[in-house]
Amino acid sequence: MIVCDTLDSLREALDSLTGTVGFVPTMGALHDGHKALIRDAVKYNDHCVVSIYVNPAQFAPHEDLATYPRPLTEDIALLEKEDVSLLCLPSTFWMYPSGISKATQVYIPALSKKYCGRTRKHFFRGITTVVARLLNLVRPTRAYFGEKDFQQLFLIKKMVADLFMPVEIIAVPVVRDYDGLAKSSRNTYLSVSERKEASELFNSLDLIRTAFLSGEERVVELLNLGKSRLDKTSVILEYIVIVNPETLQERRSKVHVGDRLLTAAVLGKTRLIDTIELR
Ligand code: AMP
Repeated sequence: MIVCDTLDSLREALDSLTGTVGFVPTMGALHDGHKALIRDAVKYNDHCVVSIYVNPAQFAPHEDLATYPRPLTEDIALLEKEDVSLLCLPSTFWMYPSGISKATQVYIPALSKKYCGRTRKHFFRGITTVVARLLNLVRPTRAYFGEKDFQQLFLIKKMVADLFMPVEIIAVPVVRDYDGLAKSSRNTYLSVSERKEASELFNSLDLIRTAFLSGEERVVELLNLGKSRLDKTSVILEYIVIVNPETLQERRSKVHVGDRLLTAAVLGKTRLIDTIELR
């Protein structure tokens, strides 16, 4: 695996790759969720390029930029085993030479303010800005994103379509732990007791899906089922919605097959997100 931590070395290394390139942008602290994206990129392309960059532009001042886990040695060992061709390690000077506030920004106004954007005001602008820069740099054939971050995936697909970016966006299903908790680099923040309770978020989504599959189609009734399950735990719900997966618009009355349940919650100091398809 070639490791590039300068722009010049990245450009040179990319020029040496022939054939199709599958790109997996990450913030590191790699786990089985990232691995699923990487394995698809390796399998369906001649080369897999991974980036690890904890992007300051997507963190608000009170968020966990300083404490976000950065186990680079372990990450490199994992990527070596997965047959990755190239690892790109951008620095902030590299990504934003004139500073973040003066950089060109990519922003999708309305959609960035919904759901996760209500509490994380910087988040989606930071995501679309950094992903646009990375896609323009790496120029992959395909780029892989997890359905776990469903709103993020939706915005990236929209950005790529709106800006005529020549890349195919591939969505990869959520990878979960033994008890249903969606894998996340932030799960390491959970205490032992919080970890035991964290799977309740998935359990509440699963309860809603089961009720839907048994014939309940009313949005309010379905969401109340999930909410009352979480009321009995320390998981504090930020939002729970059922959306049309084609538009990300909230359903208000009736659920349709294939709709998406999206949720975010806080457990202690850890923010968790999850999603499930109602099918
Ligand atoms: P992150 O490092 O958290 O920015 O995630 C990098 C990519 O991995 C994003 O496209 C995420 O959606 C994806 N990802 C993270 N966790 C999971 C998971 N549990 N299952 C599937 N994809 C994931």
